[in-house]
Amino acid sequence: MAVRVNAEKCKGCTLCVKSCPFDAIEMKEKKAVITEKCTACGACIEKCPFHAISKEEQGAGADLSAYKDVWVFAEQRDGVITPVVKELLGKGRGLANDIGDVKLCAILLGEGLGDMTKELFEAGADIVYTAESPLLYRYTADGYTKVITDAIHEFKPEIVLFGATHIGRDLAPRIAKRVGTGLTADCTQLDIDPETKGILQTRPAFGGNLMATIKCPGHRPQMSTVRPGVMDKLPVQEGRTGEVKPVSLNLQESDIRTKILEIVKTARDMVSLTDAEIIVSGGAGLGEASGFKLIQKFADHVGGVVGASRAAVDSGWIDHSHQVGQTGTTVKPKIYIACGISGAIQHLAGMQTSDIIIAINKNPMAPIFQVADYGIVGDLYKVIPEIMEVWE
Ligand SMILES: Cc1cc2nc3c(=O)[nH]c(=O)nc-3n(C[C@H](O)[C@H](O)[C@H](O)COP(=O)(O)OP(=O)(O)OC[C@H]3O[C@@H](n4cnc5c(N)ncnc54)[C@H](O)[C@@H]3O)c2cc1C
Repeated sequence: MAVRVNAEKCKGCTLCVKSCPFDAIEMKEKKAVITEKCTACGACIEKCPFHAISKEEQGAGADLSAYKDVWVFAEQRDGVITPVVKELLGKGRGLANDIGDVKLCAILLGEGLGDMTKELFEAGADIVYTAESPLLYRYTADGYTKVITDAIHEFKPEIVLFGATHIGRDLAPRIAKRVGTGLTADCTQLDIDPETKGILQTRPAFGGNLMATIKCPGHRPQMSTVRPGVMDKLPVQEGRTGEVKPVSLNLQESDIRTKILEIVKTARDMVSLTDAEIIVSGGAGLGEASGFKLIQKFADHVGGVVGASRAAVDSGWIDHSHQVGQTGTTVKPKIYIACGISGAIQHLAGMQTSDIIIAINKNPMAPIFQVADYGIVGDLYKVIPEIMEVWE
């Protein structure tokens, strides 16, 4: 536990007890005592007029060698592992190999985890740390933060990776604050520094005009959220198994301040660009909203999903959930077909690692042709029907 009371300075005023949102401070013999419910949020430190409460920061001077192994947060929703988890295991395997002599681990929270642990082993994990409780069936910031923070203190991983999903982006900063370490958000590249064996976390900054590489030299674990759709999964190894290690679970219902009343799925959730093998994207070159009818027809014909440029989204022709690019979704399908899209850097940032890129554009100088494997110069309203005719 990181928060301490200096008994000599404590005057027993109880202000800290009232300030604690987690009921984690008790009075014993007129002195404040921090209990195991403490989340190290620091509310009591500010309230104490006698400066009797302080936080022991972990950091420079801490024994970094005590931290070992690469962890991946195995985000699941309703018992289904999120696709980015397998991408992180793919990348995590490379990082673990480059560090040498460390294990690749997943940490999985929820209820009824059996099949999911099997899936994680088959996707590359050596160890799956588990926390099972009805309180963890659905994600809550309080519950998940507490359990993973406790597990990090218990098992001391040197790297912890999260998908930069809504849940990952909500969870990772809370944990980083609690364990007193560094976090790099929305990474698109991760490497191991061959000299220090520390992680080099690269992410786009300043609207994608600069790639920043960030290190976390003096604190552990090194934490990153990673963009979905950027890293490669490992091939599934059927029947591969590993070790399941339950973490100590010290979670009460009262620790969770948010109550989920209902989860409503909107039609927008149905757009799954990250899973799609073929994406047909439309841009400003469509000229009007109705152009997406042709794009949808084309996508249905080739068994793909509809994507869009930001120009098309900003024009109100299609919902933002379809947007590909730096401020949309990053995708890596087998085939990406860009129709009437110029190929601005912010769009390329989200699709240029696709296996095959096909561009249809009436301007032969459009930058999209620089990344395209196949380029067709022409009016998309003529070219697309012709392709559909020959694409069985
Ligand atoms: C901070 C920031 C973040 C951004 N994030 C994103 C992002 O996530 N995703 C994104 O896409 N953009 C993003 N942008 C916007 C980006 O810079 C471009 O403005 C946008 O990608 C342009 O979209 P477009 O290619 O559809 O339109 P345009 O650049 O206008 O290109 C339209 C193209 O269609 C062609 N064309 C026209 N008519 C036809 C026709 N009949 N047949 C064939 N071709 C035709 C034209 O030759 C042209 O090349 C961002 C910008 C900023 C500043």
